[in-house]
Amino acid sequence: NTIASELAASIRSIPDYPKPGIIFRDITTMLGDARAFRRAVDALVQPYAGTKIDKVAGMEARGFILGGAVAHQLSSGFVPIRKKGKLPHDIVRIAYSLEYGVDEMEMHRDAVNPGERVILVDDLIATGGTAVGATKLLRQIGAEVVAACFVIDLPDLGGRKKLEELDVPVHTLVEFS
Ligand code: 5GP
Repeated sequence: NTIASELAASIRSIPDYPKPGIIFRDITTMLGDARAFRRAVDALVQPYAGTKIDKVAGMEARGFILGGAVAHQLSSGFVPIRKKGKLPHDIVRIAYSLEYGVDEMEMHRDAVNPGERVILVDDLIATGGTAVGATKLLRQIGAEVVAACFVIDLPDLGGRKKLEELDVPVHTLVEFS
């Protein structure tokens, strides 16, 4: 699979970050590589080209970079899903689980209209806690979550399965075990 191996080669792996025993997959090297960045965005968009996607929702912060590019290519709007306390207007909020503990994410209440078709975009899915939270937030305001897309899947952490159990199709480009 050439796209997966090209993307894998453009992603930098940082051992023991942010803590001992964790290998952090650093996508800044992929973003800085013009060809890899274009191929990643094209491959994220490909299943949805020619379909009606009203909004792309991106998770703070790397989901903003990829989601903005995906939204542009699909001629969709973009919706930021943010960490708590950042958005200035009326919000909806949800608690979501992190590896250790919980946090909250927020979205403007009027960011998506009921029935609108939305795809979620982030750089990486691990346990799925972030994407499950975002899915619930979008559904809370009546969005139809058409799919969730990630450059990287860490299949051992089970996130894809959790999203699929919520009937969200998952689209990923490269796996690391
Ligand atoms: P999850 O909620 O699925 O456990 O974790 C995914 C979230 O954490 C994503 O928002 C992702 O950006 C971030 N994340 C966790 N581990 C990594 C990693 O190794 N590399 C990058 N780039 N992001 C990570």
